[in-house]
Amino acid sequence: MTTVENLVSQYRELLENSPLDIAAAWKTSHPDLKLVGCYPVYTPVELIHAAGMLPVGVIGAGNRLEIAHADSRFQSFVCSIVKSTLELGLTERLKFLDGIVFHSICDPARNLSSVFKRNFPDLMVEYIHFPQNMASPHTIDYLIAEYKRIGASYEKLSGKAITDEALGTSIALYNTQRRLIRELYAIRRETPQNLSTVECYILTRIGTLLPPEQHISILEQAIPELRQRNERPKDRIRVVLEGSFCEQPPIELLAGLEAAGCYILDDDFLTGWRWFTGDIPIAGDPMRNLANAYLNQSVYSGVKHDTREPKSKHLIDKFKDTRADAVLILAAKFCEPALFDYALYKRALEKEGIPHLCLEFEEKMWIFDKARTEVETFVESMLFD
Ligand code: SF4
Repeated sequence: MTTVENLVSQYRELLENSPLDIAAAWKTSHPDLKLVGCYPVYTPVELIHAAGMLPVGVIGAGNRLEIAHADSRFQSFVCSIVKSTLELGLTERLKFLDGIVFHSICDPARNLSSVFKRNFPDLMVEYIHFPQNMASPHTIDYLIAEYKRIGASYEKLSGKAITDEALGTSIALYNTQRRLIRELYAIRRETPQNLSTVECYILTRIGTLLPPEQHISILEQAIPELRQRNERPKDRIRVVLEGSFCEQPPIELLAGLEAAGCYILDDDFLTGWRWFTGDIPIAGDPMRNLANAYLNQSVYSGVKHDTREPKSKHLIDKFKDTRADAVLILAAKFCEPALFDYALYKRALEKEGIPHLCLEFEEKMWIFDKARTEVETFVESMLFD
């Protein structure tokens, strides 16, 4: 088995069964290290890391966790990730965390933050109010103040000051991690026959659960090996996938989309761990650089409120840059931001004559036949048109 095959088989089952066990095991072997959970989408992980703690992606529970308690705190028409995250807490599976952070992405996430505060008094629960107006000259100072407020909480939790030097070092480290993830995505975009979406997803997702140094070392081994692969391209359509920026689709569903005849050239999975389009500058004031990167260098998503350019333009640019054949919208059930966006995307895609298909998924989905049949029909309609 190659390194990549080994990694994928080592982590796939863990990610499907109980992803956070990977981070919990790290805590067991490093009991003095404090861990802070990061709910999607955007977290300035550098602030947590510069305070001497490990940021960990709390991005759902996989599709094997039974929701037995969380339903009593939320309505039935709320997305799965909100309920599964609460279920993890209520069943004591988040005990290894010292803190958790949510952000102003949508009403369910906002409410989840309050429910956590009330139900888990021993956990430090933070909430970041991201700016809603990106065009104001005051936005940058507002976001710096917000990051300083959050940073002060992390200094209290860790007992360690966030110095400019430490923050600069953390930014450089995460720049390296994100650069390698961008390389991974570039391999799949250029030669999708050499890196499946399931492999790309697993190699990226483990980076949300391990220290960045360890993830960097994994990617530094995997990337040269992937560059050596030389698989024969299959008769598939090339798609850009959009809409899964927060709740994550089950890995079996991703495998099913590929088997149904798609090469996924780009996607918005795990947006918070690859949310900058380039490196954050190191020189100068690191807090300002971090805030400026959110305003001017971060990727678009359904939960980033930036009216300077329509999101549909970004999607169409991505479609054209990747030379895709179609767009696949894969939105979490009951995710209002993703489904509201779909209305705008649909109009823009139709105007450009770009074929597209919209599917809904749930983190806890078990049956994939219907989704697979829909994608197969879509693929056939394009291949044999
Ligand atoms: S999946 Fe959508 S609705 Fe649910 S928490 Fe994430 S952004 Fe909000």
